[in-house]
Amino acid sequence: MKKQRWRKTKPKMKKWLCDSCSIPIKVIASYEPEYCCRGYKCGCYGLPINPIFCDKCVKELFGEPVKKGGVNLDEFF
Ligand SMILES: [Zn+2]
Ligand SMILES: [Zn+2]
Repeated sequence: MKKQRWRKTKPKMKKWLCDSCSIPIKVIASYEPEYCCRGYKCGCYGLPINPIFCDKCVKELFGEPVKKGGVNLDEFF
């Protein structure tokens, strides 16, 4: 009988540009930007509806993730 080994493989990554500051970042290789339309007369302005941001912009947009001093929810529940 053959032994099957399960190896943890890293997800494939590809280069991308942050949708906010345009610095090069790594994203999951399967990531594809989805567009609403070409932005003509539309609030989307032709930008992807699932934009991807670098760590810095994520912090600026969504705030710092609660880690130090806060309650670790994984341990809490
Ligand atoms: Zn950015
Ligand atoms: Zn649109």
